[in-house]
Amino acid sequence: MGRLDLHLHTTHSDGSLSPTDVLTRAQQGGVTALAITDHDITSGIPEAQAAGAQFGIEVIPGVEISARLDDSELHILGYFFDWQDPVLTDRLKRLRDSRHRRNPQIIDHLRALGLDITYDEVRALAGTESVGRPHIARVLMEKKYVSSSKEAFDRYLAHGKPAYVPRELPEPAEAIAWIRDAKGVPVLAHPTWVPHRGEALVKFCSQLKMEGLGGIEVHYSTHTPRQTADYLDLARRLDLLVTGGSDFHGIAKPDIEVGRGRGSLSVPEQLLAPLRLAARA
Ligand code: AMP
Ligand code: ZN
Ligand code: FE
Ligand code: FE
Repeated sequence: MGRLDLHLHTTHSDGSLSPTDVLTRAQQGGVTALAITDHDITSGIPEAQAAGAQFGIEVIPGVEISARLDDSELHILGYFFDWQDPVLTDRLKRLRDSRHRRNPQIIDHLRALGLDITYDEVRALAGTESVGRPHIARVLMEKKYVSSSKEAFDRYLAHGKPAYVPRELPEPAEAIAWIRDAKGVPVLAHPTWVPHRGEALVKFCSQLKMEGLGGIEVHYSTHTPRQTADYLDLARRLDLLVTGGSDFHGIAKPDIEVGRGRGSLSVPEQLLAPLRLAARA
């Protein structure tokens, strides 16, 4: 029985492996279909599709859009959309531009704290237009200011830490509409990020559904069996599609493997057909 992985990052955003290398890991892990879901960018898709054709792995167009939730974030995944759609392409470019406005401010804070780092160094390491805090974390690691990406976030980059700078983000309803406009299915990523529980969570997700949300990421690397069961219940109750993925990033999350997460993740192949159908509806 094959497995899926519908949440993967590559060097086109803040992952450390190229699309081809991610596909190689997927093949080794018995993954039969996957989606590359880079942050705010779709440029990794053609290379992934070429590698997929070679390895016999289906590559579904994917993306992960960061949206605002009060003073924190919520992420919307998109699947089976037209990734060459010019309107979506332009909207994603605007999101990347907002990263380039924020990132130098983060660098200024780090420099004021006495750390020798420049945005040129970060951009050179990133090698992509979707530059994020994990790239800044990697430069801090290379310069031995921190020993892990987690330490960089815990000491400097996370919300509330001294180098944190917010960036302009779309509302969840906008991110959802952008995926729908490009004929795709929008899915709530890592639902533990939603700060509500119980009935408040149900109410929150049914609001997103009214705004066009099509599914929820029930299977996820960090979910406990209880969380998986609870989100499955929620999906059934609200008639949302069930998806799942590892959120593989390579060295930024060294404990997470393609298709297997921390070891117990297994996203059933049967989830793919309803997702594909929903995109055509
Ligand atoms: P950005 O989109 O540039 O604001 O960076 C956000 C990304 O950084 C997220 O998608 C995560 O992959 C990562 N991230 C956010 N918070 C943390 C954290 N506390 N520890 C490690 N990684 C984090
Ligand atoms: Zn990421
Ligand atoms: Fe995310
Ligand atoms: Fe992700």
